[in-house]
Amino acid sequence: MFLYPDRNANGPTIVEALGALKDEHSEGIVFYADDLSQKLVSFAEIYARVVDSAQNLLNKGLKPGERVGIVIPNPEEFVISFLGVLAVRAVPVPMYPPFSLGKLDAYIQNAAAILQKSRASLLVTDSKMQRVLWSLVDRVDSLERVIEYRDLAKPSRTENFVLPAVELDEIAFLQFTSGSTSAPKGVVITHRALLANMDAFMRAYEIGPGDKALSWLPLFHDLGLIGFVLATCWYGLPTVIIPTALFVRRPSLWMQAMHDHQATISCAPNFAFALATRRTPADVRDGLDLSRVRMLGCGAEPTHPDTIDSFLANFEACGLRPESMVSVYGLAENVLGVSYSPLREPLKVDSVDRDTYLNEGRALPSMEAESLRYVSVGFTYEGFEIQVIDEEGRPLADRLVGEVLVKGPSIAAGYFEDPLASAEAFTPAGLRTGDMGYLVGGELFLTGRKKDTIIINGRNYDPQSIEWVVQEVDGVRKGNVVAFSVLAENSESLVVVAETRSNLDEEELKKSVITKVRQEIGLSLGNIVFLEAGTLPKTSSGKLQRSRTKDAYLKSELGSEGKRTLGAQADI
Ligand code: ATP
Ligand code: MG
Repeated sequence: MFLYPDRNANGPTIVEALGALKDEHSEGIVFYADDLSQKLVSFAEIYARVVDSAQNLLNKGLKPGERVGIVIPNPEEFVISFLGVLAVRAVPVPMYPPFSLGKLDAYIQNAAAILQKSRASLLVTDSKMQRVLWSLVDRVDSLERVIEYRDLAKPSRTENFVLPAVELDEIAFLQFTSGSTSAPKGVVITHRALLANMDAFMRAYEIGPGDKALSWLPLFHDLGLIGFVLATCWYGLPTVIIPTALFVRRPSLWMQAMHDHQATISCAPNFAFALATRRTPADVRDGLDLSRVRMLGCGAEPTHPDTIDSFLANFEACGLRPESMVSVYGLAENVLGVSYSPLREPLKVDSVDRDTYLNEGRALPSMEAESLRYVSVGFTYEGFEIQVIDEEGRPLADRLVGEVLVKGPSIAAGYFEDPLASAEAFTPAGLRTGDMGYLVGGELFLTGRKKDTIIINGRNYDPQSIEWVVQEVDGVRKGNVVAFSVLAENSESLVVVAETRSNLDEEELKKSVITKVRQEIGLSLGNIVFLEAGTLPKTSSGKLQRSRTKDAYLKSELGSEGKRTLGAQADI
C-alpha cells in the first residue's frame, strides 16, 4: 500500500531519497505563484537544482555543520535553497520573511536574534530583500555573508560531482519554535529523528498511491516544511504548494485548489478552517467537489468544535465527509507529530464537568450545558508513548489533568547551544511538552499550555475556555481574544484583551463581556481592553502570544504594533 516501502526510519535520507526518485517518477510539486499561475516542477528537476545549489555552496566554501539562515518567501526557491544546504551537510535555519517591507525594524531585530542564537555564518535570501538584510551582517557576530537565491541556484553542475554522504546522527536543520510562550528556541533536528517522525506519520496516515497533498502553510514552520515538503520529497508524494500570502489574501483558494488538483490531504490550524468557511463565496463553493478529500488535519493550535462543525456544514454539499477531519498534535521538540485522531472517524469532543475540573483538575464526563469541551487529539504513533504527569513527574491516572510527556524515537537533540533550557524540556524520563491535558484509555485531550494557566482563588483555568466564552459576544473577533491574570492587591485578577469589529458601542460590549464571563466562568473581570483588528500579538505562524500580550498590557503598549501577521484576518 505504500508508495515506497524502502523508505523507513533507517534511511534513505531526504536528498538521497529525492535522488532515487528522479528516474522513477515524473510527478513532483506544483508551485503556485503570487499571480495564481501554476508550474509543475518534477522531483527530478528539484533534485538537479538541489545538486547545482550544493555545488555552488561548496564552491563558496560552505563547511559541513555551518548554519545557514534562509529568508525566502517564494516556496519554490525556499525548497531548493533548503535542500541545497542540507545536501552539503550544512545546517539550514528556516526563518520567516518580513510581512511588509515597510515595517522592518522589529523584523530585523527578531531575525538578528535567530541568526545569533544559531551562530549562522551565511544568510540566503532573494534579490528583493538582499539589500535590506545585509544590515544583519553588522548586527550578528557570526554572520559573514548574505547571498541571493539566484547566485545559489545557478546551473553549475560538473559531470562527476558527487554529494557528500550524510550520517543519520548529524544535525539536519534547526527548527525554531513558534514563540508562543517565549522567544523562539532553536530545536536541533537530526536526520535520525526526522526520518523516525516522517516514517511514523506517513505510515499512520496511510499515505499511498492516489494520494496528493496540498498546503499553503508557511515553510519556515515545521508543519508546512516537514509535513508538506520534506516528507513529500522523501516519499515522492505529488504535492501542491501555495504561497501563504496568497491564501491569506484569498482564503477561498484553499478548497478551490483542493478541488482543482483532486487533492486528498491537507492540514491547517483552526483559524484557517474558520477563514475558509467565511470567505469562500457560495458561488465558488457550489462548484466544488471535495469527495476525494480523505484527510484534513487540524492542529498547531487548539481546535474549536464549533469551527469544525461550521466548516463541515458549509462544505457538506461539496461531498466533504465529516470523517475526513483528523485532529493532529505535535511540537518542534518531537520534530513534528505526536498524536492524531483515528482516520475514517469524525472528531471526538469530550464534555467535562466544569467545577470538578477547576477545583480538582479532574476531567469527568458531563452532559450539562455549561460543561467544558475538548477535542481529542487521538493516539500516538506506533513506537511512541504519551504519559500525563504531575508536578513531581509521576504518571497520572486517566482523566487527571497534568503535563504531557512524550517518549519515542524522534525526540530532538535539545535546543541549540542552550543546555539550561534543554535540560528542562528534554529529561531522562522523556520530553516535557509544556502542554497540559488528560488521557482516556490512551486517547489524549489537550487543555492548554502550562505557562499560560491562570490560577485564581486556587482554581486552575485554561485561558482558552475563557477566550472561547468571550468570543461568543457579538462584535468580538473570534480567534482574537487573549486571557491572562495580573497581580492586583495581593491576588490574581483576570484580564481579557480582545480585538473587536469597528463602529461598536464599547460600553455596551464591555457589559456583555463582563456578564458572559461571570455567568459562564463564574469570574469577575478585573479589566478588559479592546483592540483594533490585526493588532493582537501573534507569532509569525499566527498563534496567540499570551505572555507577550500580558507584557504589553503591563507596559501600556497594547495595540501599538499595528502589525499584520498570519491569522490576523481570522474571525471565525
Ligand atoms: P514556543 O515553544 O516558542 O512557545 P510553540 O509551542 O507554539 O511556541 P511549536 O512547536 O510550533 O511552537 O508548536 C507546538 C505547540 O502548539 C504545542 O506544544 C501545543 O501547545 C500547540 N499545539 C499543536 N497542536 C495542537 C493541537 N492540536 N491542539 C492544541 N494545541 C496544539
Ligand atoms: Mg513550544
